[in-house]
Amino acid sequence: MSVTFNNLGPDFYIKGILNGEMAVLSRAITLVESLNASHQLLAQQIIDGVLHKTGNSFRLGITGVPGVGKSTFIESFGKQLISKGYKIAVLAVDPSSTKSKGSILGDKTRMEELSNAKNVYIRPSPSSGTLGGVTRSTYESILLCEAAGYNFILIETVGVGQSEVAVSKLSDFFLLLMLAGAGDELQGIKRGIMEQADALVITKADGANLQKAKAARSEYAHAMHLMQASESGWLARTHICSSLTQMGVAEVYDMIMEYKQFVTTNGFFEKKRKQQRLDLFLETLDSQLTQRFFANRGIQKKIVELREGQDLQLLQPFSLAKKLLDGFLGNSD
Ligand code: GDP
Repeated sequence: MSVTFNNLGPDFYIKGILNGEMAVLSRAITLVESLNASHQLLAQQIIDGVLHKTGNSFRLGITGVPGVGKSTFIESFGKQLISKGYKIAVLAVDPSSTKSKGSILGDKTRMEELSNAKNVYIRPSPSSGTLGGVTRSTYESILLCEAAGYNFILIETVGVGQSEVAVSKLSDFFLLLMLAGAGDELQGIKRGIMEQADALVITKADGANLQKAKAARSEYAHAMHLMQASESGWLARTHICSSLTQMGVAEVYDMIMEYKQFVTTNGFFEKKRKQQRLDLFLETLDSQLTQRFFANRGIQKKIVELREGQDLQLLQPFSLAKKLLDGFLGNSD
C-alpha cells in the first residue's frame, strides 16, 4: 500500500480544496484515480465534504484525432477564457494510455504558455484504468476542480476508441475538432460522434489551408443540417478557426456563450446534468454489481466446475444464470 497520503484526513483536503490550493487539489485527484481501497474511501469523504461547492462551472468537452490541433486550440482558447476572468481547469481523458503504457496526451510538452498562467490548472490523463474507471475519476476530478473555484472546465480526449463518448457524457457542450480535406473515415470520426457534437470546428484555417477549411465548413454544415435537431433544441454549428492567427477563436467562445444562454433559458442545462448524474449512477451500479458477482468465491467455484464439467451440452444458459444470480442476491425474484 502506498504511504504517500498517510496521516492526512479528509478535513485537510476539504479545507485545502475549498481554499483553492492547487497542490492539495492535485493530491486529491490522485486519490480519486487510485485503485487502492483506502484511497478510494478517503476520496469519497473528500468529495462528500466539497459537494456543496460543486456544479458552478461550464464543462466543455473537446475531441478530435491526434494532430487535429486540440492542445494548440486549448492554448489559444484558454487564453481567451483567462482574459474574460475565468479560472480554468484542463482535464484529459485517455484510456488508451492503459495499453500503450504511456499517455499520448502526456508524452509531449503541451500547452506550455497556458500551464504557466495564473488561474489555470492542467491535469494530464490518468495513467491507468478502464474506460468506466476513467469516466468516474474524470467526473470526480471535475467536481473537485469546481470546489477549488475553477469555473470553466475543459475535458479533452483523443478521438479514438470510446473515450469521446465518455467525454460527451461528462460535458455541457461537446466540441468536435476536425481537419479540412481529410475524410471522416481517416479521422476516425464515427457518425454517432458527429450527432452528439454541439459544434464542429475545422482547425488550421490559415495560409494555404484557409480555402480548404471554408469548403469543408460548407460541406459539414450541409451534413449537420441533415441531422435531426438535438433534444436541447440547439442546432449544431460549424466553424473554422486558426489557433495560430486566432481567427475564429473568439467566435467559438461567443457561440458557446450563446448555447449556455439558450439551454439555461429553456431548462435543458439542468436537465442534462441531472440525466448525466443518473447515467453515471446506473453505470456505476452496473459495473459494481458485475465486479462483486464475479469476485464471489462461490460463483468463481461454480464457473470453474461448469467449465471443467462434462455436462456443458446439457446446460440451460438462462435458467442457470438466473439461479446463480438468485443465490448470490439471496432472493428468488
Ligand atoms: P493534438 O494532437 O490534437 O493536440 O494537436 P496539436 O495541438 O499538438 O497540433 C498538431 C500540429 O498541428 C502541431 O504541429 C501544431 O503546431 C499544428 N497546429 C495546431 N493548430 C494549428 C493552426 O491553427 N494552424 C496551423 N497552421 N497549424 C496548427
